[in-house]
Amino acid sequence: MTGHLDLDAAIIGGGTAGCAAALHLATRGLRVALFERRTVGSQASGVNFGGVREHGRDFAELPLSRRARRIWDRLPELIGSDGEFMATGHLKLARSDEQMASLEDFARGAADYGLAVELITGNRLRADFPWLGPRVVGASLCRSDGQANPRIVAPGFARAARQAGAQIFEHEAVEGALRDEGGFRLETERGRRVSARTLINVAGAWGAKVAAWFGESVPIEPQSPSMQVTEPLPYRLPVNIGVAGGDVYARQIPRGNVIFGGGRGWNDFGAITSRAGGGNVTQAMGRLTDILPWTRHVHVIRTWSGIEGYTPDEIPVIGPSDTTPGLIHAFGFSGHGFQLGPAVGEVLAELVFSGGSETPLAPFAIGRFTGAAAPVGAQGDGRDPIAAMQQGETR
Ligand SMILES: Cc1cc2nc3c(=O)[nH]c(=O)nc-3n(C[C@H](O)[C@H](O)[C@H](O)COP(=O)(O)OP(=O)(O)OC[C@H]3O[C@@H](n4cnc5c(N)ncnc54)[C@H](O)[C@@H]3O)c2cc1C
Repeated sequence: MTGHLDLDAAIIGGGTAGCAAALHLATRGLRVALFERRTVGSQASGVNFGGVREHGRDFAELPLSRRARRIWDRLPELIGSDGEFMATGHLKLARSDEQMASLEDFARGAADYGLAVELITGNRLRADFPWLGPRVVGASLCRSDGQANPRIVAPGFARAARQAGAQIFEHEAVEGALRDEGGFRLETERGRRVSARTLINVAGAWGAKVAAWFGESVPIEPQSPSMQVTEPLPYRLPVNIGVAGGDVYARQIPRGNVIFGGGRGWNDFGAITSRAGGGNVTQAMGRLTDILPWTRHVHVIRTWSGIEGYTPDEIPVIGPSDTTPGLIHAFGFSGHGFQLGPAVGEVLAELVFSGGSETPLAPFAIGRFTGAAAPVGAQGDGRDPIAAMQQGETR
Protein backbone atom coordinates (compact mmCIF):
# COMPACT_ATOMS: atom_id res chain seq x y z
CA MET A 1 0.00 0.00 0.00
CA THR A 2 1.40 3.39 -0.90
CA GLY A 3 0.07 6.89 -1.03
CA HIS A 4 0.76 10.38 0.16
CA LEU A 5 -0.76 12.03 3.20
CA ASP A 6 -0.61 15.74 3.88
CA LEU A 7 -1.24 16.38 7.58
CA ASP A 8 -1.26 19.04 10.23
CA ALA A 9 0.03 16.52 12.77
CA ALA A 10 1.55 13.05 12.55
CA ILE A 11 1.78 10.89 15.68
CA ILE A 12 4.27 8.04 16.11
CA GLY A 13 2.93 5.53 18.64
CA GLY A 14 -0.51 4.18 19.49
CA GLY A 15 -0.33 3.89 23.27
CA THR A 16 -2.66 5.78 25.59
CA ALA A 17 -0.67 9.00 25.19
CA GLY A 18 -0.72 8.89 21.38
CA CYS A 19 -4.36 7.88 21.05
CA ALA A 20 -5.42 10.60 23.53
CA ALA A 21 -3.39 13.18 21.59
CA ALA A 22 -5.03 12.05 18.34
CA LEU A 23 -8.46 12.53 19.90
CA HIS A 24 -7.78 16.05 21.15
CA LEU A 25 -6.11 17.20 17.94
CA ALA A 26 -8.85 15.78 15.70
CA THR A 27 -11.57 17.22 17.92
CA ARG A 28 -10.04 20.64 17.37
CA GLY A 29 -10.18 20.21 13.63
CA LEU A 30 -6.62 19.25 12.71
CA ARG A 31 -5.80 16.73 9.95
CA VAL A 32 -4.10 14.14 12.12
CA ALA A 33 -2.86 10.61 11.57
CA LEU A 34 -1.41 8.16 14.09
CA PHE A 35 0.97 5.39 13.07
CA GLU A 36 1.28 2.29 15.24
CA ARG A 37 3.74 -0.50 14.50
CA ARG A 38 1.41 -3.20 15.85
CA THR A 39 -2.09 -2.52 17.18
CA VAL A 40 -3.16 0.37 19.38
CA GLY A 41 -2.50 -0.39 23.05
CA SER A 42 -0.48 -3.50 22.29
CA GLN A 43 2.66 -2.38 24.17
CA ALA A 44 2.97 -0.92 27.70
CA SER A 45 -0.42 0.80 27.57
CA GLY A 46 -2.22 -2.50 27.07
CA VAL A 47 -0.30 -4.91 29.29
CA ASN A 48 0.35 -2.87 32.43
CA PHE A 49 -0.82 -3.52 35.98
CA GLY A 50 -3.80 -1.16 35.63
CA GLY A 51 -2.91 1.01 38.60
CA VAL A 52 -4.39 4.51 38.38
CA ARG A 53 -2.55 6.19 41.20
CA GLU A 54 -1.27 9.60 42.25
CA HIS A 55 -0.01 8.14 45.51
CA GLY A 56 3.77 7.86 45.80
CA ARG A 57 4.61 9.86 42.68
CA ASP A 58 7.54 12.16 42.24
CA PHE A 59 6.16 15.57 43.25
CA ALA A 60 7.20 16.94 39.84
CA GLU A 61 4.57 14.66 38.29
CA LEU A 62 1.73 15.54 40.64
CA PRO A 63 0.25 18.52 38.72
CA LEU A 64 0.03 16.34 35.58
CA SER A 65 -1.19 13.37 37.57
CA ARG A 66 -3.87 15.50 39.30
CA ARG A 67 -5.06 16.65 35.89
CA ALA A 68 -5.15 13.04 34.66
CA ARG A 69 -7.19 11.94 37.65
CA ARG A 70 -9.91 14.45 36.80
CA ILE A 71 -10.06 13.06 33.26
CA TRP A 72 -10.40 9.45 34.47
CA ASP A 73 -13.78 10.46 35.97
CA ARG A 74 -14.85 11.87 32.60
CA LEU A 75 -13.84 8.91 30.42
CA PRO A 76 -17.40 7.89 29.54
CA GLU A 77 -18.20 11.32 28.06
CA LEU A 78 -14.76 11.55 26.43
CA ILE A 79 -14.41 8.09 24.82
CA GLY A 80 -17.77 6.40 25.45
CA SER A 81 -16.29 3.88 27.92
CA ASP A 82 -15.21 4.09 31.55
CA GLY A 83 -12.21 1.84 30.86
CA GLU A 84 -13.48 -0.18 33.87
CA PHE A 85 -12.01 2.57 36.05
CA MET A 86 -12.97 2.19 39.71
CA ALA A 87 -11.82 4.57 42.46
CA THR A 88 -10.94 1.78 44.85
CA GLY A 89 -8.24 3.73 46.68
CA HIS A 90 -4.53 2.91 46.92
CA LEU A 91 -3.11 1.68 50.22
CA LYS A 92 0.67 1.90 50.52
CA LEU A 93 2.08 -0.34 53.21
CA ALA A 94 5.06 0.09 55.51
CA ARG A 95 6.92 -2.98 56.80
CA SER A 96 9.28 -0.96 59.03
CA ASP A 97 9.32 2.34 60.95
CA GLU A 98 11.66 3.82 58.32
CA GLN A 99 9.18 2.98 55.59
CA MET A 100 6.37 4.51 57.65
CA ALA A 101 8.43 7.71 57.94
CA SER A 102 8.72 7.83 54.13
CA LEU A 103 4.94 7.49 53.82
CA GLU A 104 4.50 10.36 56.28
CA ASP A 105 6.89 12.52 54.23
CA PHE A 106 4.93 11.85 51.07
CA ALA A 107 1.59 12.61 52.75
CA ARG A 108 2.91 15.96 53.97
CA GLY A 109 4.31 16.91 50.56
CA ALA A 110 1.21 15.75 48.68
CA ALA A 111 -0.95 18.10 50.77
CA ASP A 112 0.78 21.04 49.05
CA TYR A 113 -0.71 19.77 45.78
CA GLY A 114 -4.18 19.28 47.29
CA LEU A 115 -3.84 15.48 47.29
CA ALA A 116 -5.35 13.88 50.41
CA VAL A 117 -3.33 10.98 51.83
CA GLU A 118 -4.39 9.50 55.20
CA LEU A 119 -1.90 7.88 57.57
CA ILE A 120 -3.16 4.73 59.26
CA THR A 121 -1.45 2.84 62.10
CA GLY A 122 -2.14 0.81 65.24
CA ASN A 123 -5.60 -0.50 66.02
CA ARG A 124 -7.21 1.32 63.14
CA LEU A 125 -4.95 -0.48 60.65
CA ARG A 126 -6.05 -3.90 61.97
CA ALA A 127 -9.71 -2.86 62.25
CA ASP A 128 -10.00 -1.34 58.78
CA PHE A 129 -7.81 -3.86 56.95
CA PRO A 130 -8.10 -7.16 58.86
CA TRP A 131 -6.79 -9.10 55.85
CA LEU A 132 -3.27 -7.62 56.16
CA GLY A 133 -0.42 -9.76 57.47
CA PRO A 134 1.34 -9.02 60.79
CA ARG A 135 4.53 -7.66 59.14
CA VAL A 136 2.67 -4.52 58.06
CA VAL A 137 3.27 -1.77 60.66
CA GLY A 138 1.38 1.09 59.05
CA ALA A 139 -0.02 2.44 55.82
CA SER A 140 -1.09 5.51 53.90
CA LEU A 141 -4.32 5.62 51.93
CA CYS A 142 -5.17 7.75 48.92
CA ARG A 143 -8.89 7.20 48.46
CA SER A 144 -9.15 8.88 45.06
CA ASP A 145 -6.74 6.41 43.41
CA GLY A 146 -8.03 3.35 41.62
CA GLN A 147 -7.64 0.79 38.89
CA ALA A 148 -8.73 0.29 35.29
CA ASN A 149 -8.49 -2.30 32.55
CA PRO A 150 -5.45 -1.43 30.43
CA ARG A 151 -6.62 -3.67 27.57
CA ILE A 152 -9.47 -1.32 26.68
CA VAL A 153 -8.29 2.22 27.46
CA ALA A 154 -5.97 3.01 24.52
CA PRO A 155 -8.31 1.30 22.01
CA GLY A 156 -11.14 3.39 23.52
CA PHE A 157 -9.20 6.59 22.87
CA ALA A 158 -8.33 5.38 19.35
CA ARG A 159 -11.99 4.65 18.56
CA ALA A 160 -13.03 8.11 19.79
CA ALA A 161 -10.19 9.70 17.82
CA ARG A 162 -11.33 7.96 14.64
CA GLN A 163 -14.87 9.18 15.23
CA ALA A 164 -13.49 12.70 15.63
CA GLY A 165 -11.78 12.40 12.23
CA ALA A 166 -8.27 11.14 13.03
CA GLN A 167 -6.75 8.47 10.83
CA ILE A 168 -5.28 5.56 12.78
CA PHE A 169 -2.92 3.29 10.88
CA GLU A 170 -2.09 0.00 12.63
CA HIS A 171 0.63 -2.45 11.58
CA GLU A 172 2.42 0.49 10.02
CA ALA A 173 5.73 1.48 11.64
CA VAL A 174 7.32 4.79 10.86
CA GLU A 175 10.79 3.87 9.62
CA GLY A 176 12.27 7.32 9.31
CA ALA A 177 11.46 10.99 9.57
CA LEU A 178 13.21 14.25 8.90
CA ARG A 179 12.39 17.91 8.84
CA ASP A 180 13.13 20.28 5.97
CA GLU A 181 11.83 23.70 4.96
CA GLY A 182 8.42 22.23 4.09
CA GLY A 183 7.92 20.52 7.47
CA PHE A 184 8.26 16.88 8.43
CA ARG A 185 8.52 14.02 6.00
CA LEU A 186 7.90 10.49 7.24
CA GLU A 187 8.29 7.16 5.60
CA THR A 188 6.35 4.15 6.81
CA GLU A 189 7.00 0.45 6.46
CA ARG A 190 4.25 0.30 3.83
CA GLY A 191 6.03 2.84 1.70
CA ARG A 192 3.54 5.58 2.49
CA ARG A 193 4.95 9.09 2.28
CA VAL A 194 3.64 11.54 4.83
CA SER A 195 4.07 15.30 5.20
CA ALA A 196 3.16 17.02 8.45
CA ARG A 197 3.59 20.42 10.05
CA THR A 198 3.91 18.88 13.51
CA LEU A 199 5.38 15.55 14.60
CA ILE A 200 4.51 13.98 17.94
CA ASN A 201 6.86 11.35 19.32
CA VAL A 202 4.91 9.12 21.72
CA ALA A 203 6.77 5.96 20.81
CA GLY A 204 7.04 4.63 24.39
CA ALA A 205 10.26 2.70 25.05
CA TRP A 206 11.22 3.49 21.42
CA GLY A 207 10.83 7.24 21.98
CA ALA A 208 14.57 7.75 22.32
CA LYS A 209 15.06 6.09 18.95
CA VAL A 210 12.74 8.60 17.32
CA ALA A 211 14.38 11.49 19.22
CA ALA A 212 17.77 10.33 17.91
CA TRP A 213 16.55 10.84 14.32
CA PHE A 214 16.57 14.53 15.23
CA GLY A 215 19.92 14.59 17.01
CA GLU A 216 18.58 14.24 20.56
CA SER A 217 20.10 11.53 22.66
CA VAL A 218 18.09 10.39 25.72
CA PRO A 219 19.40 7.52 27.89
CA ILE A 220 16.27 5.36 27.96
CA GLU A 221 16.52 1.89 29.47
CA PRO A 222 13.90 -0.61 28.28
CA GLN A 223 12.70 -2.63 31.25
CA SER A 224 9.94 -5.13 31.84
CA PRO A 225 7.98 -5.20 35.11
CA SER A 226 6.93 -8.77 36.00
CA MET A 227 3.17 -9.31 36.23
CA GLN A 228 1.14 -12.28 37.53
CA VAL A 229 -2.51 -13.17 38.05
CA THR A 230 -4.04 -15.78 40.35
CA GLU A 231 -7.04 -18.00 39.93
CA PRO A 232 -10.32 -16.33 41.04
CA LEU A 233 -10.54 -16.06 44.85
CA PRO A 234 -13.29 -14.86 47.17
CA TYR A 235 -13.42 -11.08 46.89
CA ARG A 236 -11.72 -9.48 49.89
CA LEU A 237 -9.25 -6.87 48.57
CA PRO A 238 -11.29 -3.70 48.08
CA VAL A 239 -8.26 -1.38 47.61
CA ASN A 240 -5.13 -1.46 45.47
CA ILE A 241 -2.05 -2.37 47.47
CA GLY A 242 1.48 -1.09 47.11
CA VAL A 243 4.44 -1.10 49.48
CA ALA A 244 7.00 1.53 50.37
CA GLY A 245 9.97 0.60 48.21
CA GLY A 246 7.65 -0.78 45.53
CA ASP A 247 8.80 -4.41 45.48
CA VAL A 248 5.25 -5.80 45.27
CA TYR A 249 1.80 -4.45 44.37
CA ALA A 250 -1.61 -6.05 44.00
CA ARG A 251 -5.24 -5.50 43.15
CA GLN A 252 -8.24 -7.77 42.97
CA ILE A 253 -10.80 -7.47 40.20
CA PRO A 254 -14.50 -8.13 40.93
CA ARG A 255 -14.27 -11.56 39.21
CA GLY A 256 -11.90 -12.56 42.01
CA ASN A 257 -8.50 -12.80 40.31
CA VAL A 258 -5.67 -11.08 42.18
CA ILE A 259 -3.34 -9.27 39.77
CA PHE A 260 0.08 -8.58 41.24
CA GLY A 261 3.53 -7.51 40.21
CA GLY A 262 7.01 -6.98 41.51
CA GLY A 263 10.55 -7.10 40.20
CA ARG A 264 11.73 -6.95 36.63
CA GLY A 265 11.40 -9.52 33.88
CA TRP A 266 13.23 -10.03 30.63
CA ASN A 267 12.91 -8.43 27.22
CA ASP A 268 14.39 -8.55 23.77
CA PHE A 269 14.04 -4.93 22.78
CA GLY A 270 14.90 -5.54 19.12
CA ALA A 271 12.47 -8.43 18.70
CA ILE A 272 9.83 -6.58 20.80
CA THR A 273 9.12 -9.44 23.11
CA SER A 274 9.16 -9.73 26.91
CA ARG A 275 8.26 -12.05 29.74
CA ALA A 276 8.05 -12.07 33.54
CA GLY A 277 11.39 -12.97 35.15
CA GLY A 278 11.95 -16.40 36.76
CA GLY A 279 13.50 -15.45 40.13
CA ASN A 280 11.42 -12.30 40.42
CA VAL A 281 8.23 -14.24 39.95
CA THR A 282 8.76 -16.41 43.02
CA GLN A 283 10.13 -13.47 45.05
CA ALA A 284 7.02 -11.42 44.30
CA MET A 285 4.83 -14.37 45.33
CA GLY A 286 6.67 -14.53 48.65
CA ARG A 287 6.25 -10.81 49.24
CA LEU A 288 2.57 -11.02 48.38
CA THR A 289 1.87 -13.81 50.84
CA ASP A 290 3.81 -11.85 53.44
CA ILE A 291 1.42 -8.88 53.26
CA LEU A 292 -1.72 -10.84 52.26
CA PRO A 293 -1.38 -14.24 54.00
CA TRP A 294 -4.67 -15.47 52.50
CA THR A 295 -2.98 -15.65 49.08
CA ARG A 296 -0.79 -18.52 50.30
CA HIS A 297 -1.27 -21.73 48.26
CA VAL A 298 -3.31 -20.08 45.51
CA HIS A 299 -2.57 -20.86 41.88
CA VAL A 300 -0.94 -18.33 39.59
CA ILE A 301 -2.59 -18.87 36.22
CA ARG A 302 -0.56 -16.50 34.01
CA THR A 303 2.56 -14.36 34.07
CA TRP A 304 3.46 -11.64 31.57
CA SER A 305 5.35 -8.43 31.07
CA GLY A 306 5.76 -5.58 28.57
CA ILE A 307 8.44 -3.13 27.51
CA GLU A 308 8.60 0.26 29.17
CA GLY A 309 11.17 3.05 28.77
CA TYR A 310 12.85 4.24 31.98
CA THR A 311 14.75 7.52 32.26
CA PRO A 312 17.60 7.87 34.79
CA ASP A 313 15.46 10.16 37.01
CA GLU A 314 12.30 8.09 36.42
CA ILE A 315 10.16 10.97 35.26
CA PRO A 316 9.23 11.34 31.59
CA VAL A 317 10.38 13.56 28.77
CA ILE A 318 7.44 15.78 27.79
CA GLY A 319 7.72 18.92 25.71
CA PRO A 320 9.16 20.47 22.58
CA SER A 321 12.34 19.21 20.99
CA ASP A 322 15.44 21.29 21.60
CA THR A 323 16.71 20.73 18.05
CA THR A 324 13.71 20.67 15.77
CA PRO A 325 10.81 23.14 15.62
CA GLY A 326 7.43 21.40 15.43
CA LEU A 327 8.66 18.17 17.04
CA ILE A 328 7.09 17.36 20.42
CA HIS A 329 8.11 14.45 22.65
CA ALA A 330 6.28 12.50 25.37
CA PHE A 331 8.01 9.25 26.34
CA GLY A 332 10.00 7.57 29.10
CA PHE A 333 7.15 7.22 31.59
CA SER A 334 9.29 4.92 33.72
CA GLY A 335 6.61 2.48 34.86
CA HIS A 336 3.82 4.89 35.77
CA GLY A 337 2.48 6.47 32.59
CA PHE A 338 -0.86 4.62 32.34
CA GLN A 339 -2.48 6.94 34.87
CA LEU A 340 -0.93 9.99 33.15
CA GLY A 341 -1.84 9.06 29.56
CA PRO A 342 -5.21 10.84 29.28
CA ALA A 343 -3.66 14.11 30.53
CA VAL A 344 -0.58 13.71 28.33
CA GLY A 345 -2.90 13.72 25.31
CA GLU A 346 -4.44 17.02 26.42
CA VAL A 347 -1.04 18.56 27.15
CA LEU A 348 0.30 17.53 23.72
CA ALA A 349 -2.70 19.19 22.06
CA GLU A 350 -2.06 22.37 24.07
CA LEU A 351 1.58 22.34 22.99
CA VAL A 352 0.56 22.00 19.34
CA PHE A 353 -1.92 24.85 19.51
CA SER A 354 -0.19 27.31 21.82
CA GLY A 355 3.37 26.12 22.34
CA GLY A 356 2.74 25.91 26.10
CA SER A 357 0.61 24.09 28.65
CA GLU A 358 -1.39 25.05 31.69
CA THR A 359 0.40 22.14 33.43
CA PRO A 360 4.02 22.77 34.53
CA LEU A 361 6.31 20.82 32.22
CA ALA A 362 9.74 22.26 33.06
CA PRO A 363 10.89 19.15 35.04
CA PHE A 364 10.22 17.02 31.95
CA ALA A 365 12.34 19.04 29.51
CA ILE A 366 14.46 16.90 27.17
CA GLY A 367 17.35 19.31 27.72
CA ARG A 368 18.07 17.75 31.12
CA PHE A 369 19.59 14.83 29.23
CA THR A 370 20.77 16.38 26.00
CA GLY A 371 22.44 19.52 27.34
CA ALA A 372 22.53 22.62 25.16
CA ALA A 373 20.37 22.78 22.07
CA ALA A 374 22.04 21.52 18.92
CA PRO A 375 20.99 21.96 15.29
CA VAL A 376 19.29 19.07 13.51
CA GLY A 377 21.80 16.47 12.41
CA ALA A 378 24.57 17.79 14.64
CA GLN A 379 24.32 14.91 17.13
CA GLY A 380 23.45 11.23 16.91
CA ASP A 381 25.34 9.19 14.35
CA GLY A 382 26.61 12.25 12.52
CA ARG A 383 24.72 11.57 9.27
CA ASP A 384 22.66 14.30 7.68
CA PRO A 385 19.07 12.98 8.03
CA ILE A 386 17.76 15.04 5.10
CA ALA A 387 20.44 13.73 2.76
CA ALA A 388 19.86 10.20 4.03
CA MET A 389 16.13 10.43 3.32
CA GLN A 390 16.78 11.91 -0.13
CA GLN A 391 18.93 8.87 -0.86
CA GLY A 392 15.99 6.67 0.09
CA GLU A 393 17.63 5.65 3.36
CA THR A 394 15.45 5.39 6.46
CA ARG A 395 16.34 4.71 10.06
C1 LIG B 1 4.16 -4.51 32.94
C2 LIG B 1 3.91 -3.03 33.13
C3 LIG B 1 3.16 -2.59 34.23
C4 LIG B 1 2.89 -1.22 34.39
N1 LIG B 1 2.03 -0.82 35.38
C5 LIG B 1 1.59 0.47 35.41
C6 LIG B 1 0.60 0.88 36.32
O1 LIG B 1 0.05 0.08 37.07
N2 LIG B 1 0.23 2.18 36.34
C7 LIG B 1 0.78 3.11 35.52
O2 LIG B 1 0.42 4.29 35.60
N3 LIG B 1 1.71 2.73 34.60
C8 LIG B 1 2.11 1.45 34.52
N4 LIG B 1 3.04 1.06 33.60
C9 LIG B 1 3.59 2.05 32.70
C10 LIG B 1 2.62 2.40 31.58
O3 LIG B 1 2.05 1.24 31.03
C11 LIG B 1 3.34 3.21 30.52
O4 LIG B 1 4.07 4.26 31.12
C12 LIG B 1 2.39 3.81 29.52
O5 LIG B 1 1.47 2.87 29.05
C13 LIG B 1 3.18 4.41 28.37
O6 LIG B 1 2.26 4.78 27.37
P1 LIG B 1 2.79 5.29 25.99
O7 LIG B 1 1.59 5.61 25.16
O8 LIG B 1 3.77 6.38 26.22
O9 LIG B 1 3.67 4.09 25.42
P2 LIG B 1 3.25 2.64 24.78
O10 LIG B 1 1.98 2.13 25.35
O11 LIG B 1 4.45 1.77 24.86
O12 LIG B 1 2.97 3.06 23.30
C14 LIG B 1 4.00 3.41 22.41
C15 LIG B 1 3.66 2.79 21.09
O13 LIG B 1 4.56 3.26 20.09
C16 LIG B 1 4.67 2.25 19.12
N5 LIG B 1 5.86 2.54 18.31
C17 LIG B 1 7.14 2.62 18.73
N6 LIG B 1 7.95 2.96 17.69
C18 LIG B 1 7.14 3.10 16.61
C19 LIG B 1 7.37 3.43 15.23
N7 LIG B 1 8.61 3.70 14.77
N8 LIG B 1 6.31 3.47 14.39
C20 LIG B 1 5.05 3.21 14.84
N9 LIG B 1 4.79 2.87 16.12
C21 LIG B 1 5.82 2.83 17.00
C22 LIG B 1 4.78 0.98 19.94
O14 LIG B 1 4.44 -0.16 19.18
C23 LIG B 1 3.78 1.28 21.08
O15 LIG B 1 2.52 0.70 20.85
C24 LIG B 1 3.40 -0.30 33.45
C25 LIG B 1 4.17 -0.73 32.37
C26 LIG B 1 4.42 -2.09 32.20
C27 LIG B 1 5.23 -2.54 31.01
